[in-house]
Amino acid sequence: MTDTPTQLFIGGAWVDAADGATMPVDDPATGEVLCHVADAGPKDAKLAEDAAVQAQEEWARTAPRVRSEILRRAYEIIIERTDELAHLMTAEMGKPLAEARGEVAYAAEFFRWFSEEAVRIDGGLATLPDGRNRMLLSRRPVGPCLLITPWNFPLAMGTRKIGPAVAAGCTMVLKPAPQTPLSSLALAAILKEAGLPDGVLNVVTTSRAGEVCEPLLRGGRIRKLSFTGSTAVGQLLLAQSAEAVVRTSMELGGNAPFIVFEDADLDKAVDGAMVAKMRNMGEACTAANRFFVHRSVAQEFGRRLAERMGALVVGPGTRDGVDVGPLIDRAGRAKVEELVADAVERGARVLVGGRTPEGPGCFYPPTVLTDVSAESRLMDTEIFGPVAAILTFDDEDEVVRRANDTPWGLVGYVFTEGLDRALRVSERLEVGMVGLNTGLVSNPAAPFGGVKQSGLGREGGRVGIDEFLEYQYLAVPVR
Ligand code: NAP
Repeated sequence: MTDTPTQLFIGGAWVDAADGATMPVDDPATGEVLCHVADAGPKDAKLAEDAAVQAQEEWARTAPRVRSEILRRAYEIIIERTDELAHLMTAEMGKPLAEARGEVAYAAEFFRWFSEEAVRIDGGLATLPDGRNRMLLSRRPVGPCLLITPWNFPLAMGTRKIGPAVAAGCTMVLKPAPQTPLSSLALAAILKEAGLPDGVLNVVTTSRAGEVCEPLLRGGRIRKLSFTGSTAVGQLLLAQSAEAVVRTSMELGGNAPFIVFEDADLDKAVDGAMVAKMRNMGEACTAANRFFVHRSVAQEFGRRLAERMGALVVGPGTRDGVDVGPLIDRAGRAKVEELVADAVERGARVLVGGRTPEGPGCFYPPTVLTDVSAESRLMDTEIFGPVAAILTFDDEDEVVRRANDTPWGLVGYVFTEGLDRALRVSERLEVGMVGLNTGLVSNPAAPFGGVKQSGLGREGGRVGIDEFLEYQYLAVPVR
């Protein structure tokens, strides 16, 4: 912690906010203040934007191999510092150290992946149908980008955007979530050490997100917004981006259905449920939000899931043997409490958990609810906590219809031993990703993203870099 930067990172230098403002960073396991970081205002954001705009032209001309090697070095530094970064993330966000180490590896992988993609940006040459004209096609960086990230995966949500932006030759202003600024500042320090030129990445930590970001989006110099966060904020930012016709990538909220058919292997289904529900304490956009279990196996599935959930150890993420850390803050926990109370009022039974423990920190126990009414608020609200809500269904058409009956479409999980059914149901689900007999879909080599109100565009995979590239076509008549 002592070496972690706490200032803004602008033009390659560590600086205080122009008005000297700072904001506290809390430890959600204790509620105590860990440290203070600079709290940027619009003036600082403008300086960060100036630095990104100024660096853009030269950065776009930098050899792809150079950009690739910077990312590769940063990947190696992150891996070397796994423990240090994991402790930092656990301190500011709460996840258990084992999960934090997992996130460090996942986050680093985006840099390795995009270091490999940086040198594979291709164009094309074609003879047009008239036989005389040629088309020379090239890919160019979209320009200075504004990157806005949430608190739930403080390192990976940054590298998933910075990796392709660096690979494509874009400069950036990164605004991390105010709860977790330290991971992003540590990342900036690593990229500087890896040789990233001044001004290519600028980081503004702030408690005044709207004041800082809106002028950038409306100003016409930022050419791209890459946002990860809630659908409500995404909608607001899309509207703000319209004025200057800023290109956008939107990774928004989810409401994942987790479907267990009567022919599922229940061991696999329960293992999958533990991952899909409990990764990151349930604070994941990919978290299973609605468990649809065939009536004939619902009781057994609920019993086994409750047993596994009840055996998890809740406590500070730094303590050995802890499986479930605190939720991000009191507001996050209060929302989970309200959703559970509402479900219970509407007839749900609590199989395990459901009671907030006394004492400091924002802890909430792993909870399984069964007989959940379709009218419950948690059916159309992201729970963002360790609560599994089980509903039953009778046939395939019915479950597909109910699974799709939501404005979101990020991910779905399907458990069945029938290949036919697995493919049929997956194809009918209105989602960007499907976990087939698995509770984990995230992988840097795969295109991550959703349909409907879960977002626009994809991050990661071969297509992740496209979000940061434009086409330019040269018309060449050949006489
Ligand atoms: P959030 O409230 O939407 O905030 C996300 C980021 O947007 C934060 O940095 C936030 O800063 C900023 N922000 C909020 N209002 C803004 C404004 N007017 N202008 C500019 N920036 C603004 O979401 P969250 O609570 O941090 O994260 C949880 C949400 O993220 C969930 O819905 C989850 O599903 C989604 N998520 C999606 C993915 C995905 O890949 N699809 C991945 C992870 C998380 P402030 O907090 O200061 O407002």
